[in-house]
Amino acid sequence: MSERPTIEQYQKFIQERDFHVFRCKKCGAMIAPPKGVCYSCGSNELEWAKVSGRGKLISFTVIHVAPEQFKDEAPYFVGIVELEEGTRVTARLLGLDPDQPEKVQLGMPLRLDYETGQTGRMYLGFRPA
Ligand SMILES: [Zn+2]
Repeated sequence: MSERPTIEQYQKFIQERDFHVFRCKKCGAMIAPPKGVCYSCGSNELEWAKVSGRGKLISFTVIHVAPEQFKDEAPYFVGIVELEEGTRVTARLLGLDPDQPEKVQLGMPLRLDYETGQTGRMYLGFRPA
């Protein structure tokens, strides 16, 4: 894949359960969520990269009062996950009980998964590894 990465395609990969991030061709930094320029060196020479799907939990919150479109899915976890490759993404946390947030540990290893929401839209998710 040599085409220039776009945010539209980033979303499309998630819908296809085939998560990709941007990689800076200049400094090698992994970039997700996507921006037009590298976070680290400001270069706009970006390409697609696959990630291992392994990461760890940095922070999380339980959503009890969700936006209208996610109302029926609440409560659910949203977490910030640091990928092995160094970039951080916001994603649903799966396989954990939102009524027992005290059981969730920061730093716990997670692996990439996906979840289909009630609208049929696919979300990036992570579950305990
Ligand atoms: Zn860079």
